[in-house]
Amino acid sequence: MQKEQRPAVADWFTADDGVVRLQGTRCNDCGTPYFPKNTLACRNPQCSGKKDGSELAEYLFSTRGRIWSYADARYKPPPPYVSPDPFVPYVVAAVELEVEQMVVLGQVVRGLTVDDLAVGMAVELTAGVLYEDDEAEHTVWMWRPVND
Ligand SMILES: [Zn+2]
Repeated sequence: MQKEQRPAVADWFTADDGVVRLQGTRCNDCGTPYFPKNTLACRNPQCSGKKDGSELAEYLFSTRGRIWSYADARYKPPPPYVSPDPFVPYVVAAVELEVEQMVVLGQVVRGLTVDDLAVGMAVELTAGVLYEDDEAEHTVWMWRPVND
């Protein structure tokens, strides 16, 4: 039987309409986006809006970007990060989002190595399994190369 899929971290991404999107907040006054969510106050020093948190609204990020940098991760991250056992090395990519021009880190889909990637390569968000336990497959957002 297929296990239930569950986000490994609550409220960092959604796939409710079948499209994987990062969830953050955005300032209503100056438009500064925040990921993960900032709920305290806008941190843009040029922002002339209120700074009490009421200026921040829920925001779903664009789903495509270009690889800004990438690396081979062969070091098992310490808790609270949960790694599959045995640990399987993975590839991480820092991606500049097309619309927000913000760099967001994420794993690259399984099966690819650093030899398959290049700076400037177009990628889009998808979801993949970070680890599984008896109850569920716990998912995270991942980057997958796409054609330009
Ligand atoms: Zn602002």
